[in-house]
Amino acid sequence: MAVTESGPEVVLLMGPPGAGKGTQAALLAEARELRKLSTGDMLRAHVGRGTDLGVKAKGIMDAGELVPDELIVAMVRSELDGMEPVRALLDGFPRTPVQAAALDELLADEGAELTAAVALEVEEDELVRRLEGRARQEGRSDDNESTIRNRMEVYRRQTQPLLDYYDERGKLERVSGMGSVEDVFERVTGVLP
Ligand code: AMP
Repeated sequence: MAVTESGPEVVLLMGPPGAGKGTQAALLAEARELRKLSTGDMLRAHVGRGTDLGVKAKGIMDAGELVPDELIVAMVRSELDGMEPVRALLDGFPRTPVQAAALDELLADEGAELTAAVALEVEEDELVRRLEGRARQEGRSDDNESTIRNRMEVYRRQTQPLLDYYDERGKLERVSGMGSVEDVFERVTGVLP
């Protein structure tokens, strides 16, 4: 979809590990001229560069746990700071209620508001199948069986409740993430204004 005018736009892509957030985020960011902010990618870049943050994050990521909120919020804040207009696609953030509240504040500070929170829904068997495939192809160190199981559990416990948070604010769009990348992309663009 071509974007003819570029006012503020902030879209969240949510969903369990393996739901296809990264793939859809890349497509959507390009189609709507949004800056893609993937906290997972940012963290992996820090790990690769061996920064202080990367050193702190590595063990947490390999265990499938969440990196502390304050580190994540600072990372996102520095990206959004001064973006004018704010046009961002957030992939994998927020993941906790603290992060969601921080995002509300960050956006208010920038005079922007959330456009939509898109939740990709995929059946559990399919999630595991995709993550195992990704482990073989990309060799992500957190795509092994025990870490995958923990990341699912962490998602259910800490991140899934955020869907209610956005639903109560009238921002939640649930989209089936089953089927081909193209089909999912069409559904996602279909729910956005
Ligand atoms: P992802 O690529 O989004 O699956 O993220 C990979 C890992 O990075 C997660 O399992 C967490 O350890 C960490 N991570 C990414 N985003 C966040 C976030 N918003 N809050 C806390 N930890 C995060």
